[in-house]
Amino acid sequence: MRSYWCELAWLGGERADAGVVVEVEDGRITAVRAGAPAPPAGSTRLDGLTIPGLANAHSHAFQRALRGRTHGGSGSFWTWREQMYALADRLDPDSYRALARATFAEMALAGVTSVGEFHYVHHGPRGARYEDPNEMGRALIDAAAGAGIRMTLLDACYLHGGIGEPPSPSQLRFSDGDADAWAERVDALGDDEAVRVGAAIHSVRAVDPDSAAIVAAWAQERGRPLHAHVSEQPAENDACLEAYGRTPTGVLHDAGALHAEFTAVHATHPHDDDLALLAGSSVCACPTTERDLADGIGPMHRMSARLVLGTDSHAMIDLFEEARALELDERLATGERGLRSAAALLRAATEDGHACLGWPDAGRIAPGARADLVTVGLDGVRLAGTSPEHALEALVFAAGAADVRHVLVDGHQLVSHGRHTAVDVARELHRAVAGAAG
Ligand SMILES: [Zn+2]
Repeated sequence: MRSYWCELAWLGGERADAGVVVEVEDGRITAVRAGAPAPPAGSTRLDGLTIPGLANAHSHAFQRALRGRTHGGSGSFWTWREQMYALADRLDPDSYRALARATFAEMALAGVTSVGEFHYVHHGPRGARYEDPNEMGRALIDAAAGAGIRMTLLDACYLHGGIGEPPSPSQLRFSDGDADAWAERVDALGDDEAVRVGAAIHSVRAVDPDSAAIVAAWAQERGRPLHAHVSEQPAENDACLEAYGRTPTGVLHDAGALHAEFTAVHATHPHDDDLALLAGSSVCACPTTERDLADGIGPMHRMSARLVLGTDSHAMIDLFEEARALELDERLATGERGLRSAAALLRAATEDGHACLGWPDAGRIAPGARADLVTVGLDGVRLAGTSPEHALEALVFAAGAADVRHVLVDGHQLVSHGRHTAVDVARELHRAVAGAAG
């Protein structure tokens, strides 16, 4: 048994508690006691504010290689997508693994203990099959293990280049041909202690309604999380309405996809009826990507869906920035402040994010939960002067990923004093990005 004494810890309420003792055994939290004025003998002292592990619910790890390379100049989501395809064209299993490992390690430094990797670069260039058709997925599994974080591999069915269109040459690597072939390939992947295999419908652009129904049934029969990009751009809504007379959310509803294990990614441009259809599911906002790609600001305060957060294209990797952006972007759009509390935003980044990835026993500091602890220093320039009663607000509205000092995953120390215990993260990022971006 190990014992930690947290100067401050967030146990799920509206305020942080002082002097919290957390006992850990076999990777699980066994006891939590607040109000201990000093560390008990033999316990490890964690100065600052300790929170549960953060969940990054939407990631395409390879897109980390686009950071800084695609932000300048004019264009739109659709011109950015051409740059992204050019990168995807160059990837092979080794470069995919190296990029993902370094990117997941960057996430670890930012306090992320679980990631939902939305994976669609399945096959070789122009769709050539690898000897193991899951070679690219297994590269991601290796990468997460090397970086020390948990992963839900959201294997995405991706069949079409647009509604009624064949895949473009770049998109051929994403396609299994049909949804049954997708299911057969994904069935060959297995879970382990740190990996869950889930499903994804890339979007209604890439998956027709009948195929979406096959993917949805696959996920439901196996009790797997199911994610889909939904209404990121108005053009997607327009094409979907024209082809099917339904919004993307409506098409997914008809395909049997909208249930408690479903997560709609973005949902930036939902119609009013869509909000009710999504009420029992999760919605993943990715504000730093959505602003970078000029997607727009979704009506998140009108959602009754469970809200979660992702860093998506990794324009930056900082869940504190995603959490505050969810609130601050909507302040700009609505002219109102305080749509959500700091605790509610932190819940989206922790407990709710883990739940939508199929890890309901993570993301809380509570007995029985997985022992993921993230300690944020309050002595750096951004947070110095923070008072205990305002620590949550300071964390959510002012902290940066660089304020994360210690990270524990399943009871193992993954980050110590701001350094990854196994990976030289900046060096690996430099090499992997240079190798992939050319
Ligand atoms: Zn995405």
